[in-house]
Amino acid sequence: MNKIIDFSTFSSIKIGPCVEVLVIDKIAPLPPSYIIIGGSNNLLVSPNPPPLAILDKSFDFIKKEQNVLHVGGSTPSGKILCFAKKNNLAGFELMQKLPGTIGGMLKMNAGLKEWEVFNNLIAIRTENGWIEKKDIPHGYRYADFKGIVFEATFTCKDGFNETLLAMFKRLRENQPNFPSAGSCFKNPPNNFAGKLIQEVGLKGKRIGNMAFSDQHANFLINLGGGTFEEAIELINLAKEEVFNRFQVRLEEEIIVL
Ligand SMILES: Cc1cc2nc3c(=O)[nH]c(=O)nc-3n(C[C@H](O)[C@H](O)[C@H](O)COP(=O)(O)OP(=O)(O)OC[C@H]3O[C@@H](n4cnc5c(N)ncnc54)[C@H](O)[C@@H]3O)c2cc1C
Repeated sequence: MNKIIDFSTFSSIKIGPCVEVLVIDKIAPLPPSYIIIGGSNNLLVSPNPPPLAILDKSFDFIKKEQNVLHVGGSTPSGKILCFAKKNNLAGFELMQKLPGTIGGMLKMNAGLKEWEVFNNLIAIRTENGWIEKKDIPHGYRYADFKGIVFEATFTCKDGFNETLLAMFKRLRENQPNFPSAGSCFKNPPNNFAGKLIQEVGLKGKRIGNMAFSDQHANFLINLGGGTFEEAIELINLAKEEVFNRFQVRLEEEIIVL
């Protein structure tokens, strides 16, 4: 089954074409050259993307069995946070305003500071079977596994932490309110992408209707009607200026398709 997705409304950065996307409704490998997407909160989709696929609603589930939480690959972060709060589970507070599905969050090892989605992961289920966390190389904003996350299991510990939740809320307060895909670049080792962008004078830099936010320089924001080309021009400009001035190579956190 296919469905049409308009990425100019579906993606968090509000850029992209209307394309037919393959809907995955059973555990099986993707056809060659297809790319799986989640909630499109970390994507910049070009006018001619590769063939795309998305999990259907049957992979949107949460079940608690003994001390293990089973989460379907297309389950959104907000739903997981609500479940954790209602059932007094610790370790999911970071999902506060961290938009995505569990599949996308695991692929990106999404998180904030030392709190990452992998922290209380047990295993993921892909088309090749279950893979335990210890067998998945992962680190800051990456997880090296092949295939689609259809399901993931997490340890259940009592103690949803309201203080931690309030801290995540506070950390989000300086986030721009414009459409974005979160941080545009990964922080280089021992440095901050936002600080480097600011130091080369690109904080607030606008090209067409895209800009590096004047609130948070590492957020590439869409001021309304921004285009893929404008976004790429800003990304390349930041990489070039930061390299010329500091010999630091900025690496995109945003996935360009
Ligand atoms: C306002 C805002 C704030 C944000 N703040 C943060 C933050 O603080 N920390 C942070 O880490 N991120 C942040 N992000 C980025 C985003 O929340 C994460 O990257 C999240 O993991 C994206 O999930 P998604 O489902 O939208 O994935 P998508 O954006 O759709 O895809 C991301 C990647 O995951 C892969 N993928 C998607 N689903 C699956 C699956 N089922 N199996 C295997 N691979 C899959 C895709 O191929 C792609 O490589 C922010 C984004 C926004 C818009």
